[in-house]
Amino acid sequence: MPRFPRAAGCFSGFQVRIAGTAGSLSPAARCYERPARVPPAAPADLSACERNTPHANQYGILKRKFAAISFSGIFSGAARVAVDLKRAPASIGLVNSDVIQKLRAGVRDVPDFPKKGIIFKDITPILGDGTLFRASIDLFLERFRGKRIDKIVGIDARGFLFGSAVAYELGIGFVPLRKKGRLPYKTETAKYSLEYGEAEMELHIDAITRGEQIILIDDLLATGGTSASAATLIKKVGGQLVEAIFLIELEFLHGREKLTPTPVTSFLKY
Ligand code: AMP
Repeated sequence: MPRFPRAAGCFSGFQVRIAGTAGSLSPAARCYERPARVPPAAPADLSACERNTPHANQYGILKRKFAAISFSGIFSGAARVAVDLKRAPASIGLVNSDVIQKLRAGVRDVPDFPKKGIIFKDITPILGDGTLFRASIDLFLERFRGKRIDKIVGIDARGFLFGSAVAYELGIGFVPLRKKGRLPYKTETAKYSLEYGEAEMELHIDAITRGEQIILIDDLLATGGTSASAATLIKKVGGQLVEAIFLIELEFLHGREKLTPTPVTSFLKY
């Protein structure tokens, strides 16, 4: 029997951990395992896919509330209760080639934007389609299973869209890495060159606590200049960059080489 109750069995799909002073709980409470209580039934009109991803729909929200209420009831006032509502694993069914194909079809090529000769990979059709957007977030989340991550750093601006959704779902902090002049507080700065130009990125000096495990997220890896400067900044402020993850990678630009030795993952490769 676990010393601290890991009540995953009580609330299927969620891990619920008790943090804080075990001493403030009675021995009985410490080893408490309550019989499984059944969360509210899923609405009948959910698709099979939605049923397998309860975290991502209203039914999931109900389950979370249910778990939180149950735990505050059990241990009210007795201990600091951290309910770690880690996202239930994304359905493996979602992370398949069919989804990759659908996401790929959702990327619109816009020639000569923002400069002549650049084929801009426009992800707004993915963002505008609830199913595709969710599927794209699921791809990211699938990468995090079993890893200890403290914060997500998202790159200005499309990295914010994916990074913040992932951070929200994991219940961890999100740090915006912004183009120069956009962050209000003291910053660290790094220069970089883009596939189409030059720029500077900034990070708040106190955005990351020394030793924190960081995942870097952006929509697209091209030449790798932006992400390499992000990696530099993350390390400068004391973070440990665990992995860099992108929805899209333009492989012919070999951007991942600039991130060496950081592991790089991308889902749609061109
Ligand atoms: P890079 O520094 O060359 O890897 O460029 C990556 C950054 O620029 C990302 O934040 C992308 O959003 C953006 N980017 C670069 N090239 C493209 C492209 N062809 N289509 C869309 N976004 C791009």
